[in-house]
Amino acid sequence: MRFYSTKNKSKFYSLRDAVLQSMPEDRGLFMPESIPVLPEGFFRNIAGLNFQDIAYAIAKQFLAGDLPDSEIDRISREAVNFPVPLVRVTEGIYSLELFHGPTLAFKDVGARFMSRLMSYLNRGENQKLTILVATSGDTGSAVAHGFYNVDGIEVIILYPSGKVSMLQEKQLTTLGGNISAVEVDGTFDDCQRLVKDAFLDSDLKSAYRLCSANSINIARLIPQSFYYVEAYRQLEDRSLPLYFSVPSGNFGNLCAGLIASRMGLPVSKFIAANNQNDSVCRYLSSGEFNPMPTAQTISNAMDVGLPSNFERMMDLYGASHISMKNEIAGFSYDDIQTRQAMKQVYKQDGYVLDPHGAVAWLGLQDFLRQFSGQSNAVFLETAHPAKFIDVVEETLQFQLQIPDSLEKLKNKEKRAFLMQPDFLLFKDFLNSRI
Ligand SMILES: *Cc1c(COP(=O)(O)O)cnc(C)c1O
Repeated sequence: MRFYSTKNKSKFYSLRDAVLQSMPEDRGLFMPESIPVLPEGFFRNIAGLNFQDIAYAIAKQFLAGDLPDSEIDRISREAVNFPVPLVRVTEGIYSLELFHGPTLAFKDVGARFMSRLMSYLNRGENQKLTILVATSGDTGSAVAHGFYNVDGIEVIILYPSGKVSMLQEKQLTTLGGNISAVEVDGTFDDCQRLVKDAFLDSDLKSAYRLCSANSINIARLIPQSFYYVEAYRQLEDRSLPLYFSVPSGNFGNLCAGLIASRMGLPVSKFIAANNQNDSVCRYLSSGEFNPMPTAQTISNAMDVGLPSNFERMMDLYGASHISMKNEIAGFSYDDIQTRQAMKQVYKQDGYVLDPHGAVAWLGLQDFLRQFSGQSNAVFLETAHPAKFIDVVEETLQFQLQIPDSLEKLKNKEKRAFLMQPDFLLFKDFLNSRI
């Protein structure tokens, strides 16, 4: 399949260029030339499939012709070698637990798929490939994990100092080997800007092979559509209206849901759930996109002032505010509401939400208030509550059980380069590092 830039629909790029280049020169974002529709029988017979079969069936639609079938099969199955259980929280409300992968956040799905695809596309190259990734918390560790010890690949992670949780920081800074961490004295948007500027810098571009692993990379977006379909497979009654509430920051996750829906998944509505960084929600209600500086919240992986994937959403709806509003409802919440939701769900249903899942749960509640009647209302639980242990324990007043993989990190030593958010400093760093 070929890909175009959201800024120029008449120029096409190969899969290899789109994935390794990450972003087109015109600063748009890559989109698939067309979104394939899965045969109707696929959804009718879905009960007979498992998650890995679903992943393979979807990946094949996008990758056939560029990779041998055996590679598509291997990459897609390895990407989802852990379950995403749909857990019933209460009547008609489900949590899609996306945190059972190696770094305990949903970003494992996209990162595992992308790292395997990139390694395949990079085979036979002499010059090292350097992956730059800005993270608001969970992307960096998922990507680092995906590429750890992969020959010919170097990973540089940028994260905002003091704005990720202690355990997230440990996940980012303790791997070593081909993974380096840069602690930026600024916000996530500063990190993202440094990465974008690096790609546009002609010196760096001619000297090195740089590549991005952010949710702007199309290779992360495609696999995220897998679990929407997998959620549908797990429903008891697939005939009811289906809603997905997505806790959103950079809006990659929601975009992937929109792609799943265009592939034929019967979704009645998406709910874009934001924390105070709510530029997309405000767009949905007003029709005007006015991004604001990033505000820090307890759902820090969603602290994104200027969500990159809004560009793709506009592309999917032909920049029509009305069409977007027909499919997506937006709601936003502050930290007080988020904590209240965590308490309420724990008390009523005995279910422990992390702060991101709590924002999505709130969005679902507000959305459902408008309707009566049965439905399947699913919120995406994007991270394990233990990743945000301080907030969760303080809010719920009990001690969380920490998974072994996180417990082990506590005693590992942090290694990071502290840096001001200045492009020239970052450029020097890259020149010394690569
Ligand atoms: C990244 C992240 C989000 C936001 O996902 P986007 O695709 O950037 O909208 C939500 N929750 C958690 C836990 C995350 O790590």
